[in-house]
Order: sequence, then structure tokens, then C-alpha cells
Amino acid sequence: MRAVQVVNAKGPFRLVELDVPEPPAGSVRIKVQACGVCHSDEYAKEGSRPGIQYPRIPGHEVAGIIDAVGAGVAGWEAGQRVGVGWHGGHCGYCISCRRGDFVTCSKARQITGLTRDGGYADFMIASAGALASIPGELSPVEAGPLLCAGVTTFNALRNSGARSGDMVAILGVGGLGHMAIQFSAKMGFHTIAIARGQDKGPLAKKLGAKHYIDSESQNAVAELEKLGGAKVMLSTVTSGKAVNAVLGGLGINGRLILVGNPDQPLEVPGRLLIAGRRSISGWPSGSPIDSQDTLGFAALSGVRPMTEVFPLERATDAYERMMSGKARFRVVLTTGV
Ligand SMILES: [Zn+2]
Ligand SMILES: [Zn+2]
Repeated sequence: MRAVQVVNAKGPFRLVELDVPEPPAGSVRIKVQACGVCHSDEYAKEGSRPGIQYPRIPGHEVAGIIDAVGAGVAGWEAGQRVGVGWHGGHCGYCISCRRGDFVTCSKARQITGLTRDGGYADFMIASAGALASIPGELSPVEAGPLLCAGVTTFNALRNSGARSGDMVAILGVGGLGHMAIQFSAKMGFHTIAIARGQDKGPLAKKLGAKHYIDSESQNAVAELEKLGGAKVMLSTVTSGKAVNAVLGGLGINGRLILVGNPDQPLEVPGRLLIAGRRSISGWPSGSPIDSQDTLGFAALSGVRPMTEVFPLERATDAYERMMSGKARFRVVLTTGV
């Protein structure tokens, strides 16, 4: 099979031929159809997280078909369409796992494409506990990005406490933001998109935003106050400065939720939090069943990622395109299956 490996930390991608692996007990082999290229693949590429073993096959937005089933796997069979996201497995015995909170597993959490090989390949091995079922309405290219950018924003929003009709502001109209706007609108929230510049306004509205605020030419806090203040503000951006600049637009009981990691600490006046019972939190993607719920909701509601597609052998170009920040909006590799 073909696979794209990172040879060593900060090293190049290398297209190699490998033997097709056999699935061990508790795992399945997936014939990969598509794999999204995510900014978090940078951890594998640059070695910026400790403990990554090389060579490593990146990719945690994997969509494909079960091709072989290992011993002891119940509930999954060859021929089923499945996806694998960031969550690649968990220990099953730590305190978090015993509470059913697999995402915060503290003993042996596996991350697809980082602690184990991912989807930049014709085949990959996945733990049965990491699988999500893909509904027929979604193509592999559509399903891939929903397994990372999709589940992260969908799951943050559905657990945000916002109710139908509440004002939800989405900060950023990019890879995560363009998904978040769609999910927010389809969940019945009064959706406001905030980004820099006028040019993203028409697209944000097309994706379901009721209002667009250009944070360069408008005072975002004043605009949000005019609309009543945000019940939830979901930040998908990496500019800490941009987050600091809009915090004052949170309404009473408003909650900022970070899914993008700010590049500098937030500056929060205590009075803002105390007087209006406002709060700040984060949200870390989701478990495989959360991914499956995301795929199901997307199939039901018509939410789809906007993608640019590259063949597997052009992984280097695809990665550079993603890192350039110019892709609209998610880059996806396809194997030709
Ligand atoms: Zn990702
Ligand atoms: Zn655990």
C-alpha cells in the first residue's frame, strides 16, 4: 500500500510502499477513501508534542470502508463505511474512562496520526472503539473534515447551554468557523459571524449567519451590545488579541468557549465575569459517538465542509496549502477509492 510518512520531526513527507497491515485483536483495517489535512497535523510534522515515534503516518480526519476485522470485535463488519477522528482510543479503566468521559482519558489516550498511524495512506488500522459510522448522504471527502473541524464545533455548540433563538457569535470564518456558522444556524441559534474585513461577510451570511460584523471597520463590542449581547461566543481564531477585543460583547450569563488556541493569554477584567455572571471555557473535540452524531446531524441538516481536494501522492502540496491559510476551507487527500 501507499503511505505518506513524516520521516522525523521537522522532516519532509515521504511517499512509501508498505505491506498492508493485519488488524490486531480489538481493531479493524480501514480502506481509506479520504483524509482531511488539519492544522493539528503540524504536531506530527514538527514534533511539537513529546513522545511521537517516527516514522509516523499523520491524518486524523479519516473516512473509508472497513476492510478486515480483528479478533474480538463486535458490532462492526467488513464493508461498513466508517470514520476516525482525533480520538484514536482510550484505556477503559482510568477515572475518566470509568465515568464514560473517554476524551479526557488520563492513562492511555491514543491520538490518530500522532501516537499511532493515521489516514495519509491507502489502509490504516483503527481501534474498534475509535470508529464512527458514516451515513449514506455524506461522501468520503465531506465526512473527513466533519471528524475534526466538524465534531469540535458541533459538540462545543450543542454543549454550550445555548437554547433555540439565543444569540451565538462565531469568531472567525475559516476552517473551524465556516463549520461553526452552519451548525449554529441549523441548531436554531441567532448566529452572528465576526471576522476581519468585509470580504467574508457575504459567505458568512450564505452559511447561515444573520449578521456579519467586520471587526476592522466596526466596533464588535458595540455591535454585539446593540443586538443584546452574546449568550455564547465560540472562538475559532488563534489571535489572542482578537479574542480580547470582543470579550466585552458577551451578554448577561454569556459564555466564551475556546476551540481555537489563542497565541497569547486572555486579558479578562474580573468585573466583566462577576457582574454579569459571565464565564470562559474551552472545548476539546469529542468522542467517536460525538463524531457519529456530528455526521448524522450534517446528513440531516445539510451542513457540509467546503473543501479543496488533492490526491494522496500530493500530500506535501496539500499540507503547504493548508498551512498557507489560503485554503477555502478544508484540504482533503483522496486515495482514488
Ligand atoms: Zn484536526
Ligand atoms: Zn482512560
